Amino acid sequence: MERLKTLVKGRVILPSDPSYDEARRVWNGVIDKRPLAIVKCKDEEDVVNTVNYARENSLLLAIRGGGHSVAGFGTCDNGVVLDLSEMKKIVVDPSSKTAVAQPGLTWGGFDRATQEHALATTGGVISTTGIAGFTLGGGVGWLVRKHGLTIDNLLSVELVTAEGKKVKASAEQNQDLFWGVKGGGGNFGVVTRFEYKLHQVGPVVFGGLLIFPFERAEEVLKVYGEWVRSVPDELSALSLFLIAPPIPPIPQHIQGKRVFAIGLCYADDLEEGARLVSPIKALNPAADLAGPIPYTVLQSMFDASAPRGINAYWKSLYLDELDKNVIGTLIQAGSSFRSPFTHLDLIYLEGAVKRKGAEESAFQHRDKRFLVHMNGNWMNKQEETENIN
Ligand SMILES: Cc1cc2nc3c(=O)[nH]c(=O)nc-3n(C[C@H](O)[C@H](O)[C@H](O)COP(=O)(O)OP(=O)(O)OC[C@H]3O[C@@H](n4cnc5c(N)ncnc54)[C@H](O)[C@@H]3O)c2cc1C
Repeated sequence: MERLKTLVKGRVILPSDPSYDEARRVWNGVIDKRPLAIVKCKDEEDVVNTVNYARENSLLLAIRGGGHSVAGFGTCDNGVVLDLSEMKKIVVDPSSKTAVAQPGLTWGGFDRATQEHALATTGGVISTTGIAGFTLGGGVGWLVRKHGLTIDNLLSVELVTAEGKKVKASAEQNQDLFWGVKGGGGNFGVVTRFEYKLHQVGPVVFGGLLIFPFERAEEVLKVYGEWVRSVPDELSALSLFLIAPPIPPIPQHIQGKRVFAIGLCYADDLEEGARLVSPIKALNPAADLAGPIPYTVLQSMFDASAPRGINAYWKSLYLDELDKNVIGTLIQAGSSFRSPFTHLDLIYLEGAVKRKGAEESAFQHRDKRFLVHMNGNWMNKQEETENIN
């Protein structure tokens, strides 16, 4: 490992290093892996040299962008972690509406830079998530119905292959590799540069949360199921079961209570957004937190629910229908968790996601209507079994 230090400009953190325990941590506190070395790459050459070193020494290599893989794929035992978190430059070109970003960037950094020009692309709803793993897995966010998955806005990548070669992939170059990069989940090489298409968004959009008492979930879910199918693609709406956090702007009388909420984003004319949301507002929520909101604020609205180091066990599935049985099952699941960090989300897709052909990328779920996330999150290690169950 000492030789690796001579090959790269970035820091190589070994188990004997005082910063080792901090450097080996990823977002999910359950993941407790002990790599032989963590390489904080500074540039593309560091990536090439680390890949070559791992291959020549038959060492397992884990690639880490934002470290948010819930399964912990951004680290490994007894191998080398190629950590890209210090490579986070972004260049926005407002005239061509494109952005070129390095893989260590998070969505918070990405949105800050693009929103300076009132531009955005589909990105994560928690601002600390890395753009790299997110993009490579497909990418579902508030803009997905209007502008498609993040991969639908990916124009090109530069990556370092397992042989240590630098290659470009796009619709014109290395098309088969580009197909796999778009939704294949990473590890088709180390992506060192992402080029995205941007769209006019914000800086203020219509969005936020409408919160109902848990007891009204069935009634509101039925209305939601019909209503989402009637609204234009500019409007994204997810519904979620959660325990209302004890933080403003959540009104005190529902803090700590189990609730059912509808999250919204209409990234276009504010008055039209208000008009489209009015059927749900008319249901008289216990808290109406939806209105004009800066896009960057909406993009970090859920950040406090997902601090780094929290313990997590997540599952997801797709649904085609929201019938009586499904609604009953969701309500049962939504009533069963006890951790105030856990939530159960139902995201309506369709729109631009469906308009691309299934053969255009490795992402294979474009025909699915709803995406369900069961996000089990808890603070206390002793509560692991209960939360996983
Ligand atoms: C709190 C939280 C919120 C989330 N919100 C959303 C959401 O709104 N929408 C959504 O679609 N998903 C969401 N996700 C899922 C998220 O997209 C994935 O976990 C994603 O993999 C995270 O990317 P990362 O770079 O942070 O993760 P990492 O753990 O660094 O990497 C994830 C995977 O990608 C690989 N990889 C990373 N960088 C590269 C690279 N440069 N080249 C090649 N392979 C690479 C890694 O090896 C690993 O297999 C969320 C996850 C969390 C934990």
